[in-house]
Amino acid sequence: MRQLIFATGNEGKLKEIRRILEDLDVEVLSLKEAGIQVEIEENGSTFTENAIIKATEIMKLTGLLTLADDSGLEVDCLNKEPGIYSARYLGESTSYDIKNKAILDRMKETQVNERSARFVCAIAAVFPDGTCLNTLETMEGQIADTIAGTGGFGYDPIFYLPEYECTAAELSIDEKNKISHRGKALSEMKEKLKNYIK
Ligand code: IMP
Repeated sequence: MRQLIFATGNEGKLKEIRRILEDLDVEVLSLKEAGIQVEIEENGSTFTENAIIKATEIMKLTGLLTLADDSGLEVDCLNKEPGIYSARYLGESTSYDIKNKAILDRMKETQVNERSARFVCAIAAVFPDGTCLNTLETMEGQIADTIAGTGGFGYDPIFYLPEYECTAAELSIDEKNKISHRGKALSEMKEKLKNYIK
């Protein structure tokens, strides 16, 4: 069975990708399982560039097909902040409770029709011969006025989905995966990979 690497240390993401790719004939290895420990500097200026940087570095180290993702939250009235700096916003080790409250605080004067935001996810797949495939998807919503919900992670408790009348932190994992930026970008990547993995 062909092996591929998904360049993440995040177990949640790994579970998600294993489930989505389970009907492709591939074994998905984490960085740990591949015996790799590296700090990669994500110095690209877009989600796609950062995903390509990560996947390319790991492919060079392993010689194996490598997938990587980069994701974040864009808030329109904050000039699309925190964007590619979502994980690093206010410091990597700052709790999401503090990060979320800071965003709500910056938007306390912002009216509901100006609170649009989206989660973005870019995925790159880099093959040993250098071939690179990309997908990019979003989940559109708005910034809530209060924190709500205990599910999900990161900015989910302040990300309100008007059509579901709740935040992303109030959806079940399966509900979120169906509509999320990451779920959609992974499903699209799977379709692209089918043409390459026989
Ligand atoms: P990375 O893609 O692992 O670099 O992380 C991007 C950051 O964006 C995460 O640490 C979260 O802060 C945020 N983020 C990305 N996707 C989601 C999501 O589905 N819910 C909440 N926060 C997210």
